[in-house]
Amino acid sequence: MQKKCPVSDIEIMEKNCQFCGELVELFTGEYRVKCPKCKNYVFRDKASCAEWCPYAEECFGKKS
Ligand SMILES: [Zn+2]
Repeated sequence: MQKKCPVSDIEIMEKNCQFCGELVELFTGEYRVKCPKCKNYVFRDKASCAEWCPYAEECFGKKS
């Protein structure tokens, strides 16, 4: 069984790549996206969903 974030509304969040400044778009449910310009991963601000989402640990791959 696959666990998913209980987020149903699709929202697009724009974020500037921290490496090259390119504007990239993150969709709801994505916590990282590959920058089309410099090919580095741009991460969503972890504080946004990790604080309340019960599956945040699995999303972010955190292991104790
Ligand atoms: Zn970039």
